[in-house]
Amino acid sequence: MSKIQMKNAIAELDGDEMTRVLWAVIKEKLLEPFIELKTEYFDLGLKARDDTNDGITYESAAAIKRLGVGVKCATITSNQARVDEYKLKGLTPSPNGIIRAELDGTVFRTPILLKNIPSTVSCWKHPLVLGRHAYGDVYKNSEMSVPGPGKAELVFTGEDGKEIRQTIMDMKGPGILQGMHNLDSSIESFARSCFIYGLDEKMDVWFAAKDTISKTYDGRFKEIFQKIYDEEYHEEYKKAGIEYFYTLIDDAVARVMRNDGGFLWACKNYDGDVMSDMVASASGSLAMMTSVLVSPGGVFEYEAAHGTVQRHYYKYLKGEKTSTNPVALIFAWTGALAKRAEIDGTPDLAGFAKRLEKETLGLIEDGYMTGDLSRMANPPAKEKLDSWQFIDRIAARLV
Ligand code: NAP
Ligand code: MG
Repeated sequence: MSKIQMKNAIAELDGDEMTRVLWAVIKEKLLEPFIELKTEYFDLGLKARDDTNDGITYESAAAIKRLGVGVKCATITSNQARVDEYKLKGLTPSPNGIIRAELDGTVFRTPILLKNIPSTVSCWKHPLVLGRHAYGDVYKNSEMSVPGPGKAELVFTGEDGKEIRQTIMDMKGPGILQGMHNLDSSIESFARSCFIYGLDEKMDVWFAAKDTISKTYDGRFKEIFQKIYDEEYHEEYKKAGIEYFYTLIDDAVARVMRNDGGFLWACKNYDGDVMSDMVASASGSLAMMTSVLVSPGGVFEYEAAHGTVQRHYYKYLKGEKTSTNPVALIFAWTGALAKRAEIDGTPDLAGFAKRLEKETLGLIEDGYMTGDLSRMANPPAKEKLDSWQFIDRIAARLV
């Protein structure tokens, strides 16, 4: 059998722990036998990031921008325990944070639904995609508690020294205060990323906030989304038979719970944090969730939504063949390969990516799966497999 050729490379970002172990197995068993794999490889393992003072992370982000498509393994975000464990020079910032800032992107997460893994929300027949704005609001706030009565004010000092001042509250007693912000440029990027994603996936786009209460702050989000839609996307959406609409966040929540899914739900930072955990838990396992970072410039980075599965890795180091679910990692690869194929016009590669997804899900629907899924399968699983067996069984279906 001759291997499928790739025209252009994708940026490959390797990671840490259990996901790094499985990354290599997926390449060896599911990709390299079938594709003449063309990647620019970056080792984003914690030690390599520390050794290069994160230089490697910035290089990999530049490569994703240059090549247009990247695929990323899960990586450790360091904390003090990791500094000791890996004998690091110091704490390094989250690589996902660095890449997100470099690509100015929005993260889209989609549950993978299967016939025999029931969603806890029974009306969701099609995947509900969540788009989370990843900048500002309460995540970059300033807050304080005040000891007693006094006047709380919001003050903005322009570069020209001019002040804008507004009373928040004449406080009658001790209490708490919080200030937060966002930037028009970041909201514009967020909106464009959502509209590009909707068009790409032929999905309606919903955006929800609370502009009835927060008339200026949430009102600005609503205005920017509407303006960009009207000026840049309305015509294309009409042609594609899809639509954008705004609704209040409480109305969106009520509608989502009785909708059959299949649309993109764009959320402000905090709403997206909360709602993406709700959507993920409905699909049963963190490994049954795809995640892609889309930049407004049309650059795509595919990854798994879960972390490095540290607890399984320590068992693996003791010699255990763990039953870690590799589906999200496989789908990160198929997402990146399919996007590469679409950009390059290489239908063989697109066809392979589709087949790999179909055989992966087919195996699970036939009753063969990892432990996280076998716990909740209905009808019950025929066999619980370890990760290596699971990947081998997929490979056998591909030849
Ligand atoms: P995690 O890797 O997401 O795993 C948490 C738990 O979820 C696991 O212990 C496991 O539960 C279950 N799980 C997650 N993925 C699974 C899979 N593929 N198959 C089966 N079960 C799965 O989170 P963590 O262990 O708390 O974090 C480990 C490291 O990941 C941290 O250093 C963190 O910084 C990093 N992280 C990276 C990313 C990223 O790069 N995208 C995202 C999040 C976290 P059981 O143990 O009950 O089996
Ligand atoms: Mg959260």
